[in-house]
Amino acid sequence: MGSRDWCPMERVLAIRIHRGTHEVGGTCIELAADGERIVLDAGMPMTPPRRCSDLLPDVPGLWAEGDGSLRGLFISHPHPDHYGLADLVDDDVPIFMGPRAQAVLRESSFFIPWAPAFPPALPLEHRVPVELGPFTVTPWRVDHGAEDCFALLVEAAGSRVLYSGDWRGHGPHPETVEEIVANVGRLDTLLVEGTRIEIGGDDHHISPTEAAVEQACVELIAAARRGVVAFASAQNFDRLDSLQRAAHAAGREFVLDLYAASLWIASGRPRDAIRVFATRPQRRRIYETEAFERTRAVRDLRIFPEEIAERPEELVLCLRTSAVHEIEDTGVLLDADVIWSMWEGYLQGESMASTRQVLRRNGARVSFIHTSGHATATDLEAFVRRVDAREVVPIHTRSPHICAGTFPGARLRTDGEWWDVAREPEGHACTA
Ligand SMILES: [Zn+2]
Repeated sequence: MGSRDWCPMERVLAIRIHRGTHEVGGTCIELAADGERIVLDAGMPMTPPRRCSDLLPDVPGLWAEGDGSLRGLFISHPHPDHYGLADLVDDDVPIFMGPRAQAVLRESSFFIPWAPAFPPALPLEHRVPVELGPFTVTPWRVDHGAEDCFALLVEAAGSRVLYSGDWRGHGPHPETVEEIVANVGRLDTLLVEGTRIEIGGDDHHISPTEAAVEQACVELIAAARRGVVAFASAQNFDRLDSLQRAAHAAGREFVLDLYAASLWIASGRPRDAIRVFATRPQRRRIYETEAFERTRAVRDLRIFPEEIAERPEELVLCLRTSAVHEIEDTGVLLDADVIWSMWEGYLQGESMASTRQVLRRNGARVSFIHTSGHATATDLEAFVRRVDAREVVPIHTRSPHICAGTFPGARLRTDGEWWDVAREPEGHACTA
């Protein structure tokens, strides 16, 4: 472990970031105190490492039977770059994650069987501390678009460390940031995400806030004369909420495909706010697995191609792009308004060539209406200034050096480096 420069014999909390000091995704942080350890996040990297053996960070006891000193794994939120390796974790290591996040991932794994299945986990709740050996871990709700997203406060050996997780200040719950700033108290170390700290700054094509996204959708749908089709992530619940409210404001019904509808219902959202369209691959999956209870459960909400063909101007369909060929047959895309509510570059990529072709030949008008799930550089800097932390370590960033120039008190670390959290020395008597 790193040297302890202020009091060599003192009990300390030590940290190492396995992945994330200079990349977005694959986050994994290990903390040690009193001979025991915990891990925050076991994420899948966005780009696979060059060597297969580099995929799993070198955390003793995380992927294989250990000596019992690893007390638990805490998942900050249900995105693969934070939980994607959790299915490989040894059965003896307890995993913690928000209950609604778990419910959504369970549903998701039925429709995406090749994606990593999330193992059974213990619940995390906003501001309910979990005590494990010398560690007290308290989740603080943050706004990141998905269900149960948390910043994690770790207290051990007299030190206090806050890991921000992924968050934003321009979503529907800015009060979550205010709650942390006002109540989290004095920190020794803040591990803060810096996803949008980039050379060249923020993307100009995205809306400033989630509220602006909703307003743009309200205006577009109100002005639309024929079908409206939206493409958005089924796990971006803030976005589905925005689209659903915008559809209803225009007096249209909001239609989700069976996959997104199952996640919507699992998240506890009202089933009577949606209609359900089961796409061909989704129906095939139901037949293959004989999971007919899934279609029975939404029987009263189902919408079929004939109805979509009859009244496209009374509907907003929110679907996967894989369904474009199928819905083209209903005529809903003809002269339609299309809301692309994801990263713009995704539509321009090679994998979307046939989607673009279908939209073009139907004369569909595509509008990009989107905002990021991550805090702007301005909000990140303001957060760091307002949180009372003695040391600030950027994580989940491609640009650590720009973070160092932006965040007051920033200290850059490297992947795999252990360091001791230097505690407030005030009032401390070192007897060593
Ligand atoms: Zn992330």
